Amino acid sequence: MTDAATPATLDPYAASDEVLSAALGDEPRYRLVQLRAWLARGVDDPEEMSDLPAGLRRRLADVLAPPPELVAQTSADGGLTRKVLLRMQPSGEEIESVLMLYPAGGERERARATVCISTQAGCAMGCPFCATGQAGLRGQLTVGEIVRQVTVMQRLLASGEIAVEGAPDHVTNVVFMGMGEPLANVAGTLGAVRWLTDAERGFGLSARSITVSTIGLVPAMRQLTALGLPVRLAVSLHAPDDALRDDLVPANRSHPLAEVLAAAAEHAEATGRRVTFEYVLIDGINDQPEHAERLAALLAGRGAAHLNLIPMNPTPGVSWTAPPVAAQRAFCRRLTDAGLPATIRANRGTDIDAACGQLYATYQLRSGRILPAAIGAAERLDGTRR
Ligand code: SAH
Ligand code: SF4
Repeated sequence: MTDAATPATLDPYAASDEVLSAALGDEPRYRLVQLRAWLARGVDDPEEMSDLPAGLRRRLADVLAPPPELVAQTSADGGLTRKVLLRMQPSGEEIESVLMLYPAGGERERARATVCISTQAGCAMGCPFCATGQAGLRGQLTVGEIVRQVTVMQRLLASGEIAVEGAPDHVTNVVFMGMGEPLANVAGTLGAVRWLTDAERGFGLSARSITVSTIGLVPAMRQLTALGLPVRLAVSLHAPDDALRDDLVPANRSHPLAEVLAAAAEHAEATGRRVTFEYVLIDGINDQPEHAERLAALLAGRGAAHLNLIPMNPTPGVSWTAPPVAAQRAFCRRLTDAGLPATIRANRGTDIDAACGQLYATYQLRSGRILPAAIGAAERLDGTRR
């Protein structure tokens, strides 16, 4: 977090009223209300705050961290998926986020505009199937850097620059499923959730429209629960037992399955929202009938809201692939036959590297990075394939 003493780095989305008032100087109190109203609408460039006097706008521009630069946009799925590359200011960090539009009458009943946002530049967790993990961790995002991914999309929708018939003209849902592990950046993630759900001074999104995905960093899961907001928790499982999960999700060695599931149950109990689980299907690694059976047994009676099966998306430098479609369906059927509400996730944006686990792939290729220690896990598991 920044403070008023640091010029042009003050994060307007993390600043208290006192800090913003200090930035406003001798201005009358209603200026703070005006500034907050602009921020709540996603306008964070002082130059655009037209009801503030020009001198004050200039002074604010000297203090507030500037909005991110929209470096590139790509679209896929007939315009329903849009990936943007944002250069954050003043850090210069480049971040990808994805907008997914679901028009009414499409695959869901209510029209939705969902933004998938990043919480870190890269990720330190090293899951061997994930492109973001291969880049390592380059940095934490601030509250402002996280919420600005939402406000950029909101403005693209509101201005009509992104417009699809039957789709909303504003952001309806936010999923913390982009780059990084949200609960390895607790300050950024919780601060962003607070601002996004603040009806008075923030974005005013219902907590029920927000999903935080985690590999299960147990102490931070409890901090999220302690927020007391009915945010949807999605837990990335990927394996039905600790032995396999230790390799696929290295953090499992510190936070084994039983602890992760207990913390997930506490969240459900405290918020009244059942937990969603995610499971990346990797051919020959975690997709065998016995994996499905153990997974069903592991989750039986836990009141899972849903289990999303995500066929593995291609990751540079990793030879693993998704199982054939028939095998994916057979795996899913074993789970549903056992009473688990499971479906295979329809992928968005695979051809523009915008799908699950693909963000940051381009940087990895550009910088010529080689895979870190995670490659060891991949090799070890490949040795145990059928
Ligand atoms: N770090 C968090 C959130 C970001 S990843 C987490 O891991 O939960 C969002 C989802 O994409 C996770 O369920 C993750 O396991 C999945 N994912 C990662 N790499 C993938 C890949 N190559 N193919 C499909 N899904 C992947
Ligand atoms: Fe990080 Fe999630 Fe990728 Fe694992 S799957 S490396 S936690 S972003």
